[in-house]
Amino acid sequence: MIICKSARELEMLYTAGQVVAGAIRAVSEAAAPGVTTGELERIATAFIRKRHGVPAFKDYNGFPGNICASVNEEVIHGIPSRLRQVKSGDIISIDVGAIVNGYVGDAAVTLPIGEIDADSARLLEVTREALTKGIEQAVIGNRLSDISHAIQTYVESKGFSVVRDYVGHGVGTTMHEEPQIPNYGKSGRGPRLRRGMSLAIEPMVNIGTYEVKVLADKWTVVTKDGARSAHFEHSIAITEQGPWILTQLDG
Ligand code: MG
Repeated sequence: MIICKSARELEMLYTAGQVVAGAIRAVSEAAAPGVTTGELERIATAFIRKRHGVPAFKDYNGFPGNICASVNEEVIHGIPSRLRQVKSGDIISIDVGAIVNGYVGDAAVTLPIGEIDADSARLLEVTREALTKGIEQAVIGNRLSDISHAIQTYVESKGFSVVRDYVGHGVGTTMHEEPQIPNYGKSGRGPRLRRGMSLAIEPMVNIGTYEVKVLADKWTVVTKDGARSAHFEHSIAITEQGPWILTQLDG
């Protein structure tokens, strides 16, 4: 069942979303050559705790980190480590979830470290824009798969591929609610979008094949061909005025 939230509940989701957005900004400012993914995790965690939030990923299905930090060919679910330094030319996907007063915010960005190559820069730009294209479809009266279709069509028109095995999701008092939101598919399918739905839309885009595999640590998802991948995510709410981006600073 898809839970439609009241105006008050959407405000609670917005509060959580702003904590996530602030944590991502703090991490973005620190993401430079030589920093470890463990240090980025520490920064995000301190930011969330200071605002009376709880990192949402820790122990979720047993995940060992407070955030996900996924470098280069890693797609999602990278485990932060004090031993993992990033260097100029890398890209790093940072996924942050926080629970604030019982409501969850969930967002992700992919950041360039120092100077990155042109293909990687294009990958980041296309993935960020794909998220925007998806959000634009999150309006009352559309169907769920209109979001999926807009993302896939845009990404493939730019020569990249969308990951099939992991999807966006509803977000509320738990991190993963119904519905699932694939980043591919035909338009005009699935439930009609209604006021008060809150969704985490999260395209994962690969330079090469869309196929992925999970590493021996049982968490880190990487591309099968080793080519790079990017991930952008926002939690949004569907309102009469259009999509409300809960995890964008200042809404
Ligand atoms: Mg998510």
